[in-house]
Amino acid sequence: MHIAVLGAGPIGLEAAVAATDAGHSVTVYEQGPQAAWAVAAWGHVTLFTPWSMNTTAAGRARVGGEGLDGPGFPTAAEWRAAYLLPLAATLDLRCGHRVLQVGRQHLRKGDLLGQAARAAEPFRLLVQGPQGERFDRADAVLDCTGTWGDPAPAGPGGLPVPGEAAARASGRLRYGPVPVGDLAGRRVLLLGDGASAVTVLQELLALSPPARITWLTPSSAVPGFYSPEDDVLPGRRALWTVGRQAAAEVDHRPGAFLAALELAGGGLTVRFEDGTTLEVDHAVVATGFRPDNGPLRELQFHACWGSEGPMKLAADLLATRGGGGGDCLASPQGGGAEVLRSPEPRLFVLGSKSFGRRSDFLLQEGHRQVTQVLELLAR
Ligand SMILES: Cc1cc2nc3c(=O)[nH]c(=O)nc-3n(C[C@H](O)[C@H](O)[C@H](O)COP(=O)(O)OP(=O)(O)OC[C@H]3O[C@@H](n4cnc5c(N)ncnc54)[C@H](O)[C@@H]3O)c2cc1C
Repeated sequence: MHIAVLGAGPIGLEAAVAATDAGHSVTVYEQGPQAAWAVAAWGHVTLFTPWSMNTTAAGRARVGGEGLDGPGFPTAAEWRAAYLLPLAATLDLRCGHRVLQVGRQHLRKGDLLGQAARAAEPFRLLVQGPQGERFDRADAVLDCTGTWGDPAPAGPGGLPVPGEAAARASGRLRYGPVPVGDLAGRRVLLLGDGASAVTVLQELLALSPPARITWLTPSSAVPGFYSPEDDVLPGRRALWTVGRQAAAEVDHRPGAFLAALELAGGGLTVRFEDGTTLEVDHAVVATGFRPDNGPLRELQFHACWGSEGPMKLAADLLATRGGGGGDCLASPQGGGAEVLRSPEPRLFVLGSKSFGRRSDFLLQEGHRQVTQVLELLAR
């Protein structure tokens, strides 16, 4: 079988390894100039899962090297350099190739509704590469494109506020857990209560002098991610503690909503819904990420209306973990491998994209998905 793997992130790479080892021919498409391009953007962050949970036996067998299954906690940059990039070097990778659309060779979306017979037609991929656009074919598609490319905006109701795009274009607003080393002593508005937001908070407080932070969270119960007192992941507990303590130290405004952002001098005027304003130098928006299901639009792909993840897995996660904020170590998939199937035969969404907007995805879950999908393809 010829398998197209979309995205050479950590899960796309593991999927390509497993598929190649199973005897399939595999092409990996990566939009960035190198593998694990999204991971490179948060390379400064220390993972809260150890090496042993961030690598697989199959991957380690290809890469070699010491300590890849050890108990230490690498930064994302260390993990990428020691494991992901060497792993990528063992694969047929097309970097600089973005998959724009996926369809079936001669079938339209509404043809053969829900029928296994659709599998008789290969997938057709519209790919943008350095030489322009072209069609490629595949018998199976593993969409491992992640969610990093579409950060959630700053405003209430999940909308961007007026002025948000201009603030971003001016460089005074940034999204996600990106580096903030240039913000020492600056007045910073931080939005979000998850692990990414607290990671940013931790970095802003560690600066010399520390940033002067106004922290907006949806509620006063911070941080908004799960970590029990006896957390088996000490890094996760340490992050949780930072968030809990910081709430008392910084200007924490639970339940405050933005109304608009305006460029003002070298900074931003923040307008709140209650009519008050605040002057800051920068804003950091860490309110989560959204999957881009646009490339799957011509397929019989069924997305959850809440999370935008694939429907069966989304329902399974809801049943086993609840709507969010649960333990990302808790084992989902009460329904087993079958929950990874979509109505479109041989289309699988894996990795962080498979969790849609949920923030409780862990690499070990993606590793498990890869094993399960290879089993499904072998049936
Ligand atoms: C700050 C941070 C810390 C995290 N810490 C942990 C942790 O400690 N432990 C843990 O288990 N998990 C952690 N995660 C969660 C998760 O494991 C990571 O997000 C992981 O990178 C997900 O891997 P992925 O392969 O699914 O997606 P990604 O890493 O996002 O990779 C997707 C790849 O697809 C490419 N791509 C996207 N669109 C296209 C397209 N149309 N065509 C071609 N290529 C495309 C991208 O360039 C990218 O290289 C963390 C996440 C973040 C953001």
